[in-house]
Amino acid sequence: MARNGASTVLLERYGHLGGMATGGLVLVIMPMSDGTAEQQIAGLCQEVVDRLDVMGAAIHPEKKDLGSSDSRLVSCWKRYAFSVIEGKIRLSATVDPEALKCVLNDMVTEARVSLLLHSLETRAIAQQNELQGVICESKSGRQAVLGKVIIDATGDGDVFASAGAPFDSTMNPAMRSSRLALTFRMGNIDSNRYFSFRESEALKHADLMRELEGLGGFTMYIKTTREDVMWVNNFIPGLNPLNAADLTWLEINGRKRALITQRFLKEHVPGFESSFIMDTASQIGVRSSRRLIGEHILTEQDIFSGTVFPDTIAVCPDFRHTVSPEHPHWHVPYRSLIPNHVDRLLVAGRCFSSDPVANDLLAPIQFCIAMGQAAGTAAALAIKHGVAVRRLDYRLLHNSLVDQGVPLPNIES
Ligand SMILES: Cc1cc2nc3c(=O)[nH]c(=O)nc-3n(C[C@H](O)[C@H](O)[C@H](O)COP(=O)(O)OP(=O)(O)OC[C@H]3O[C@@H](n4cnc5c(N)ncnc54)[C@H](O)[C@@H]3O)c2cc1C
Repeated sequence: MARNGASTVLLERYGHLGGMATGGLVLVIMPMSDGTAEQQIAGLCQEVVDRLDVMGAAIHPEKKDLGSSDSRLVSCWKRYAFSVIEGKIRLSATVDPEALKCVLNDMVTEARVSLLLHSLETRAIAQQNELQGVICESKSGRQAVLGKVIIDATGDGDVFASAGAPFDSTMNPAMRSSRLALTFRMGNIDSNRYFSFRESEALKHADLMRELEGLGGFTMYIKTTREDVMWVNNFIPGLNPLNAADLTWLEINGRKRALITQRFLKEHVPGFESSFIMDTASQIGVRSSRRLIGEHILTEQDIFSGTVFPDTIAVCPDFRHTVSPEHPHWHVPYRSLIPNHVDRLLVAGRCFSSDPVANDLLAPIQFCIAMGQAAGTAAALAIKHGVAVRRLDYRLLHNSLVDQGVPLPNIES
């Protein structure tokens, strides 16, 4: 938004930017490419990766190797999450979340964004159906922040819920996205030793993992940017991400289970002999909560049929290859960022307008960044041209995003 010329205030409830990708310790940016040499997600997400590269804080395959099935490359990358899918190299980046916090700070300060950290948005200010700003609470007290366009990128849709925009928060308990997490990192491990054990003694490893699960421990270990640090991911069912009592329960219970995990691994699993819990996530991992009901609800059917929209703002590579092999790209339309009934509001990130299946597939970090880039650009263009965001000429948005390096389908000019 600010880079496109609009005066911008950014509110954040915690002391750093990045949400799940930093405070949630989600340190893998899922594929930005589809298993060919082409890259579908670039733009701001690529810039973030490039800046991390300069700091030596990201690990990912080289662009020249994308789509390769060369056995030497595949065996080099297969231990990194999502870098090899169905035997082909993808552009997926494992990043250092502390470096990412610094990169995001640099990007917003360079763009002259007025950043207010430690500021929780608590209520929308709306007259009839027109959103005018938000109330936030901080150590400075209660404050109103007004704007011509407000972007709700809270993940949970706090702004649109308060503004009275329709939304859905029903979850399918069978889906991964309904599960919460308290992730953590373990330090002083020997990841090579661990992965060699896991690969060479798969049955023994599986037995140990079953035993650990029986004790309540976590068994999903993901490689980080460091050989001596492992990320532990988990999936906790049956909790409501919008309920403070449930979140509190997980803060306590999740840490107990992290300790069980660490003690067991230290005692029984090669590579973890000297391990310790390096840090637990400073925020509960929420995969999905409120979903906007917007001008277009992106559906499972859209995903399965590979629908290309006349207002596509992001082309998202299928990272599971189980959804629809003949349609390797999922398209997000601008209308999925626009609420019904409430004006001067756009939505970006995991709370965008989608059904549970589309939401589950399109919530990864790289897609959320792409939606954020589109929403910010649209807001700035709408202000510049004096039109409502829902009336913005898509061609303006398309051309501006393409100029910013976002790969989009061609449109007739
Ligand atoms: C455990 C777990 C593992 C995952 N694994 C992966 C993975 O490996 N790769 C991948 O790409 N994706 C993964 N995901 C999904 C991905 O991390 C998220 O879907 C994505 O990061 C969401 O981004 P977002 O910006 O929409 O929301 P968030 O990351 O939740 O960001 C929302 C931001 O808004 C702030 N905020 C919220 N409410 C308010 C308020 N009222 N006032 C002020 N500020 C507020 C938050 O503090 C936060 O900074 C995972 C998710 C989880 C939970």
